[in-house]
Amino acid sequence: MDTYLLVIAILLGLLLLVFLGMGVYAVYFITKIYRPKSATPAAKQDSFEYFCTNHPEEYSQGICAICERGYCGKCLREVDKIHFCPEHFNVFINNEWDLLAEVRTTAQTPETANYVYSFKKNIWKEGIPSYVVTHYRLNVEGDFVESYVNFFVKKLDAQTLGARLEQNKAESSKVPHLS
Ligand SMILES: [Zn+2]
Ligand SMILES: [Zn+2]
Repeated sequence: MDTYLLVIAILLGLLLLVFLGMGVYAVYFITKIYRPKSATPAAKQDSFEYFCTNHPEEYSQGICAICERGYCGKCLREVDKIHFCPEHFNVFINNEWDLLAEVRTTAQTPETANYVYSFKKNIWKEGIPSYVVTHYRLNVEGDFVESYVNFFVKKLDAQTLGARLEQNKAESSKVPHLS
């Protein structure tokens, strides 16, 4: 009887270890995915602000998808889980948008979409609005998380920007990777 209990205890112990291991792995996996994303040029420096751009006394609750500045809950407008500041919400609803690029990234290749983020930042310096929507999907066969970075621009700008984006992509792929 005692050995029987001992075997059960050992099995339970092993099971616990497996769960702990899975937990640690999950945390490792998630941090690996999210770290490169926050280190992308578009998000690195001035995108995260603690206070609302319009209300300096209010904490920022989110970032506008177009200008990437922080805004409070009163200012932010949400459409399909995308957030906009009041000004760019108007830009969003008053224009037609085209999907200019869809880039698939994984934890192993997080830098694949970097050219999109830097391109977004560059055209915003010229006052050209665009936004990025990222979808996360679990790849069931491969058992890993992949993300799809969807890059939208105004329909009117799509043709000229499409050519520029392709050029940027070609240039960024020439730069040797440091990994
Ligand atoms: Zn904005
Ligand atoms: Zn505000």
